[in-house]
Amino acid sequence: MGMATPIDGKKIAAQVREKIGEAVKILHDQHNYRPSLAVVLVGEDAASQVYVASKHKFTREAGMGSLQHELPADTPEDALIALIKTLNADDNIDGILVQLPLPDGVDTARVIGQIDPAKDVDGLTETSAGRLSLGRPGLRPCTPAGCVILAKQALAAQGEVLSGKHCVIIGRSILVGKPAAFLFLEQNCTVTIAHSRTKDLASVCAGADILVAAVGRPEMVQGNWVKEGAIVIDVGINRVANDNPKSKRKTKLVGDVDYISAASRAAAITPVPGGVGPMTIACLLRNTLLAACLRRGWPVPKGLE
Ligand code: NDP
Repeated sequence: MGMATPIDGKKIAAQVREKIGEAVKILHDQHNYRPSLAVVLVGEDAASQVYVASKHKFTREAGMGSLQHELPADTPEDALIALIKTLNADDNIDGILVQLPLPDGVDTARVIGQIDPAKDVDGLTETSAGRLSLGRPGLRPCTPAGCVILAKQALAAQGEVLSGKHCVIIGRSILVGKPAAFLFLEQNCTVTIAHSRTKDLASVCAGADILVAAVGRPEMVQGNWVKEGAIVIDVGINRVANDNPKSKRKTKLVGDVDYISAASRAAAITPVPGGVGPMTIACLLRNTLLAACLRRGWPVPKGLE
């Protein structure tokens, strides 16, 4: 087997955003209304600031409203909850996203639990998680939804489908691993969830037609764990020291998968950066549009269901 095809998350995300932009135009023509997203950022986490800035940029580019609420790290939990209640009550806001992680000492579950499920564009409330696990329609978490789209497209390029494939997901977080498992199950994959207590992870991975790594450990997944011809979706974003003497940057981003060795066995693999990351934002925009349509009883534009 030669080198894997890189899965171009940037390009696929741009295509999704373009479709959303067109749907937003149609909604505006029909109803004179633009969906709006409110993002709440607490504290000054550098990575979060970068994510929030891109969310803002792409929301605007898609023709939707984007409002940002930046609060100091020492904001009392009750003040944060009061803001969420105000956003819940504001009929012009369709989506509410609280950027994670919240500062230490804040009860994340309590805060997220205040978001009106109809506006839960991150898909993290108990209602959204319950709907996902019961197989009922609802707003799905963005990163895992992006993983499914990327895996589907990589398989489609080979004339194949997700149904019946064995999908191994490493990681069982509320944000990524667990919802990814339900979403791949919904696509009729046979799903295995691996985690820090999994025995002989390498041989569990070796059975995967689709391997999703959402661990947060730089380059942990080795090429010899990857089945020949598998699709590898690397969710990890890890900042590590840059060992390239020619580069001026002291640090660089790597995934949870050792890209070079995995690419020598996989059929297709997502790069980091430029794989799953851009899809997360595209799915956030899709959720904002869906939330707007569902709240107002408008039909969901074709191709975005
Ligand atoms: P968490 O830390 O919440 O979860 C990590 C999971 O990996 C846990 O379930 C843990 O198992 C498991 N794990 C840890 N060590 C091992 C090990 N040695 N072997 C097997 N499993 C292990 O992380 P997240 O799910 O929030 O994020 C995962 C990665 O994805 C991070 O790098 C994060 O930055 C990135 N990310 C990227 C996004 C994107 O848009 N591309 C969005 C969100 C996250 P256990 O439960 O047993 O502890």
